[in-house]
Amino acid sequence: MSKKSDAIQDLYPKWLRVKADRFQLSRLDPAETRGPDGRRLDRQAAETAFRENIACLQKLQYRLYAECKHGVLVVLQAMDAGGKDGVIRHVLGPLNPQGVLVFSYKKPTPRELAHDFLWRIHMHTPGHGMIVCFNRSHYEDVLVVRVHELAPKSVWKARYAHINNFERLLVDSGTVILKFLLIISKDEQKRRMQARLERPHKNWKFSEADLVERKCFDAYQEAYQAMLEKTSLPHAPWYVIPADNKWFRNYAVSMIMRETLERLDPRFPAPVEGLERIVVE
Ligand code: ATP
Ligand code: MG
Repeated sequence: MSKKSDAIQDLYPKWLRVKADRFQLSRLDPAETRGPDGRRLDRQAAETAFRENIACLQKLQYRLYAECKHGVLVVLQAMDAGGKDGVIRHVLGPLNPQGVLVFSYKKPTPRELAHDFLWRIHMHTPGHGMIVCFNRSHYEDVLVVRVHELAPKSVWKARYAHINNFERLLVDSGTVILKFLLIISKDEQKRRMQARLERPHKNWKFSEADLVERKCFDAYQEAYQAMLEKTSLPHAPWYVIPADNKWFRNYAVSMIMRETLERLDPRFPAPVEGLERIVVE
């Protein structure tokens, strides 16, 4: 492993981070509300801390952009109605849009399918100074593809190693990778889908395809478990976020992003020499 990967792996905070060899998704409570110190958080305290996190992230993003040395890749995976859009709106929304790009990965087009599965991903990875968010990602190729047998087992099985090698390349090139799996319970998913049917301003979000995916809820949990075991590595760890409570989800994601960027500690570039002698007339 390169020095760069070594240095980047020290950036990732421990809280909610998945250790590949000892994590059991089935033991996680999606309604969990305990904070980094192990104590239960109430909504008000979490919302106050969330606002502080956002204020810090705004300053850190400014420095990240000015320094132009590292990129940050935020990967979001979740079941339908799991809260990916909410995280984008609440956590990334307040950042300067000049330094943030969001890409949503849907069913691959024929052109995308005519290439290797990372082709459509690699072209959107962050350049220096940028924060890029993937709303779904290359992980769909070991999730939906596995659950629905869209490719033979021999094909999707080989992808875990391809993903790990690919992410190592990104990290070696100065990219910080934060992967968030948002976990909601089956009951909470039902409530949110029901709301999409009943509330007019949410109707547009309802898709019958989501009901088909819901039938595979348990198969997805298995695919998530395999993904976490095989691809949560020190240089690009997964964070599993209990996401039944939106306020906890937003607090947790913002906290982990803030701590990572604080440790990265981007600096303004040194001013060019002789700046003090220049006069603006
Ligand atoms: P929302 O429902 O909140 O609008 P979404 O991400 O679910 O957001 P949809 O258009 O509903 O957006 O769904 C995108 C679909 O594309 C998902 O069902 C996902 O599994 C599928 N998809 C993404 N990547 C792949 C892939 N590589 N192969 C097959 N299907 C994929
Ligand atoms: Mg959907």
